[in-house]
Amino acid sequence: MGRDGFQCHICGSASVSVPGRIEQNSDVTCAKCGHVLASWAEYKRRIGSLLREATPGRRPAISDPIDW
Ligand SMILES: [Zn+2]
Repeated sequence: MGRDGFQCHICGSASVSVPGRIEQNSDVTCAKCGHVLASWAEYKRRIGSLLREATPGRRPAISDPIDW
């Protein structure tokens, strides 16, 4: 698992590609090989969890469309 938790299991790339038109069941894929890493809903949940661990007790100001 990479630093951000989304390193590709297939090619090892840490780059992800999100769909241009995002829906809850859209796939977040590896930007290098196209392997599906998670659904957009799962991706947001995991990123939110990582951010909460990184900044306990406060909600960081972020501009990404992530649900809390
Ligand atoms: Zn990959």
